[in-house]
Amino acid sequence: MSDALAPGQAIGILGGGQLGRMLSVAAGRLGYRTHIYDPGANPPAAHLAERVTCAPWDDRAALRAFAQSVAVITFEFENIPAETLAALEDLRTIRPGLRALEVSQDRLEEKRFLRGLGLQTAPFAPVASTADLAAAMAEFGPEIILKTRRMGYDGKGQVRLGAGADLAAALAELEGADAIAEGVIAFSAEVSVIAARNVAGAVAAFDPGENLHKSGILHQTRVPARLSAAQRSDAVIIAANILNALDYVGVLGVELFVTPGGILVNEIAPRVHNSGHWTQNGCAVDQFEQHIRAITGLPLGDGARHADVVMTNLIGDDIDRLPDYLVAPDTAVHLYGKAESRPGRKMGHVNAIIRAR
Ligand code: AMP
Repeated sequence: MSDALAPGQAIGILGGGQLGRMLSVAAGRLGYRTHIYDPGANPPAAHLAERVTCAPWDDRAALRAFAQSVAVITFEFENIPAETLAALEDLRTIRPGLRALEVSQDRLEEKRFLRGLGLQTAPFAPVASTADLAAAMAEFGPEIILKTRRMGYDGKGQVRLGAGADLAAALAELEGADAIAEGVIAFSAEVSVIAARNVAGAVAAFDPGENLHKSGILHQTRVPARLSAAQRSDAVIIAANILNALDYVGVLGVELFVTPGGILVNEIAPRVHNSGHWTQNGCAVDQFEQHIRAITGLPLGDGARHADVVMTNLIGDDIDRLPDYLVAPDTAVHLYGKAESRPGRKMGHVNAIIRAR
C-alpha cells in the first residue's frame, strides 16, 4: 500500500478507444490523471483524459515525452507493435508487461503457452501451404477454422472451411499472413472470466459472464452464466493460472468454450474486456477500477456481484434504439462519444439489471 501511486499522479494509457475512455473515468475517480497515446486524431478517450498525444507508434521522441510525463504505463489495445512497448519499457514500468502482450498477439504462441500450462484448447496447427491445410482438415475435420496468427479480433481474419472448400483460395485471401488452423469446437456456451492480479500477487475474479456473438462481434454478455458450481470454479482457476504464469499485473480477459469434456481456452486479452462491461452496474468495483487499482499498487476490490446483468453492445445502427434504452427500467447507458456510426462500430453499450419482479 505504501508503494501505491500517490493521488494526483498520471497514468499513461496506450490506445484511446472506449476502453481507454472508461479507464480514464475510473482513474479519475481514484484521484489519478491520465495521458492517452493514440495514433488517431480525436480518439474517444481524449474527451476524458487530462492529456492526449496523437502520434505514430514509432515516434521515438513522442514516446519518450509520453513516458516521462507519467508514473506508470498501461494499454487498452493488444495490437500495439512490440517495438513500441520495448522502447517504452526502458523508460517506465509497463503493466501488464511485454510477455503478456507478445503471447496474446500471436494465436500460435498463445495456444502453445496455454497448452504448456496444462490447459485445454482447440486442436491447432501452423499453416503455410494447402498441404498443411489439408492435413489439418484430415486430423481435426470435418470442418476447421483458418485464422491469421496476428491482428485478428472480432472474428476478423478468420474463415471456416468444410469438405470441398477451395483451400488455395482461402490461403490466398490471407495475402501471405502467417496462419493457424483450428478444429471446430462444439461448445455448449462461450463464457469469459475477467480477472485481476495486483503488484502484491493478489488475484480477484469477477463472476464468469456468458457471451453471445453476432457476425463474430460480441452482442451480449449475461451474468450469471449458466454454469455448474464446478464449471464456475474451473473457469476462475484457469484465469488465475494464466495470471500467475505471466506474473501479470492488471485485468485480463479469458475467453472460454464450455464443452461436456471440460472448459477450453479460446483466447486471452491482456486488458479490460468488452465482456466485462457488465461489472460497471453489477459490482461495487468494476473492471476498469480494478485495473487501475492493480497497476497503481492499490489493494484489489473483491469484485463481488450484487445483481444479475445483461450487457448489450450498441453496434452501428443499434444506436438508433437509444431513445428506448434511455427510458427502459433498471438500464444504464454507456456511450463512447463517437460522432459517426458505421456498420460494426461499437458506439456504446447498455447494462440492464435483471430483478425478480
Ligand atoms: P476469436 O477471434 O478467436 O475469438 O473467434 C471469434 C469467435 O469465433 C469465437 O467467439 C467463437 O464464437 C468462434 N470460434 C473461434 N474459434 C473457434 C473454434 N476453434 N471452434 C468453434 N468456434 C470458434
